[in-house]
Amino acid sequence: MADAPRPPIESGCPDGFQYMHPLMRKHYGNWDYHEDPQPGVLKHVAKDGTPLFTVRAGTQRILDVFTLRKLCDIGDEFADGHVHFTIRSNIEYMVADESRVQPLIDKLTEEGFIVGGTKNSVTMISHTQGWLHCDIPGTDASGVVKSMMDELIDEFRNWNMPNRVHLTTSCCQINCGGQGDIAINVQHTKPPKINHDLVANVCERPSVVARCPVAAIRPAMVDGKPSLEVDEKKCICCGACFPPCPPMQINDAEHSKLAIWVGGNHSNARGKPTFQKLVAAGIPNNPPRWPEATAIVKKILKVYKEDAKDWERINDWVERIGWPRFFELTELPFTKFHIDNWRGARNSLNASAHIRF
Ligand code: SF4
Ligand code: SF4
Repeated sequence: MADAPRPPIESGCPDGFQYMHPLMRKHYGNWDYHEDPQPGVLKHVAKDGTPLFTVRAGTQRILDVFTLRKLCDIGDEFADGHVHFTIRSNIEYMVADESRVQPLIDKLTEEGFIVGGTKNSVTMISHTQGWLHCDIPGTDASGVVKSMMDELIDEFRNWNMPNRVHLTTSCCQINCGGQGDIAINVQHTKPPKINHDLVANVCERPSVVARCPVAAIRPAMVDGKPSLEVDEKKCICCGACFPPCPPMQINDAEHSKLAIWVGGNHSNARGKPTFQKLVAAGIPNNPPRWPEATAIVKKILKVYKEDAKDWERINDWVERIGWPRFFELTELPFTKFHIDNWRGARNSLNASAHIRF
């Protein structure tokens, strides 16, 4: 008889329960309520009255092993040996005893970590991988995050926003990241430059042609070699052809810019999802500190802080005051480039109550 089939090798994400704090495991599904005793600290109370305190600190998403070890050592010594990373790269420690909260905060602060990011603060920017880890970025999302959070440190460790603020970045124009209250996204402004010598050796031409959302790429013979050509009038500079064909170089020190989008939010119990809108484009992609993009984000946050009512998220606030007032208050110029003039945009424009074609 043939051997039984080999069982599959499970190489996906391991079961998270085994790593959870014992009290989280014990009371899973049985939490009664939670409170926010102070910035960076959450208190969850189970139905049987057992409290669990969580202390949150910001980290960069891409951590070196020494920092990670240091964070784990803090968890071993000052918490119960369990840590948890949030999707926005904050680290969380859980302790059952309230008297252990302050020593933990003191130790994190002493080691240079910032405690905060809860409730109505600006929490860590969720960010994509950037130059360090991905093959197609046009900027370094981690660097943008570091530069911005350095300037928003008080907004992270205090509760001085009308409601929580989620910032996001993306480092290419097509893939992950880039949907939040404020999103800082890459924006290419020129069609790709093709290195014809390499296309024939590196790219599978049909799949590159198929990648283009506006059918702007055609196979072509260049100097007797099979290559590709781009109809630049059709090209929307999205960069989707670059991942399957690196010789379609779209990243450019001068023409790859940043754009800022505002007002994205998931649906919740009270509202539908909202889509972000472009508010600033053509911002220099200016490492190592990205001062122009940071200044715009700070300005938007300042106006939001002054003008929004308590508990209004950015999208609620803009919805109430209207986009024209948003541009007036933030002093961002509204130009014709804010209007989506791609020919496929007719559908999305027709979804607006104000502009119809
Ligand atoms: S946003 Fe784009 S470049 Fe950045 S990590 Fe994701 S796929 Fe890579
Ligand atoms: S950048 Fe986008 S639109 Fe332009 S050719 Fe490449 S895939 Fe097509």
